[in-house]
Amino acid sequence: MLLGPPGAGKGTMAGGLANSAGLAVFVTGDVLRAAIAGGSELGIKVKSTVEAGRLVDDETILSLAQEFLRTHSQGALFDGFPRTIKQAEGLRSLLSAEDELRVVYLDTSKETIVARLGARRVCPECGRIYNVRFKPPRNDEICDDCNASLICRKDDTDEVIKSRYELYLAETAPLVNYFSEELLKVNGDLPGEEVLEIVRGELCPA
Ligand SMILES: [Zn+2]
Repeated sequence: MLLGPPGAGKGTMAGGLANSAGLAVFVTGDVLRAAIAGGSELGIKVKSTVEAGRLVDDETILSLAQEFLRTHSQGALFDGFPRTIKQAEGLRSLLSAEDELRVVYLDTSKETIVARLGARRVCPECGRIYNVRFKPPRNDEICDDCNASLICRKDDTDEVIKSRYELYLAETAPLVNYFSEELLKVNGDLPGEEVLEIVRGELCPA
């Protein structure tokens, strides 16, 4: 499982870890979309919930997690789930005695998150995402693909990033506490590659 605020690099970490440990990645949004596309009974229920603009309930998410674990016997990496203690308890109840649960917490400072997300730019034409510090376009503030001027999304302004960060901490503190036995706390302020090496060393010893 991965815990960390938006901008902590969970996506990069999930990709890298899944590769080296041979795990299937469970990203809630992707799994919901796949369920809808699959058209199962559960998928139809998810579709009507999402279309009504409501949040998918804990029970449904847990059913999807259970199905995911059943169909990915090599092991799963959960990114963005569980979000609540109730979901965490549900996930624990899905695991058998042989299953090993590890929780990676990307402990990342507000300054780092603001620096990373505040440097994000998006192309209004094609949607490509850049980072003026880490992944800049070839020409300053201009999209490589379609030459449009890049924009800063409204939810990437410093004030919005800071309030999202505070909200995240408030929501996640109980989970960090709940998983204290399984927790591997890593300094998320380090560059992504370094963080990945540390986590790999801990979770997949050669
Ligand atoms: Zn573009």
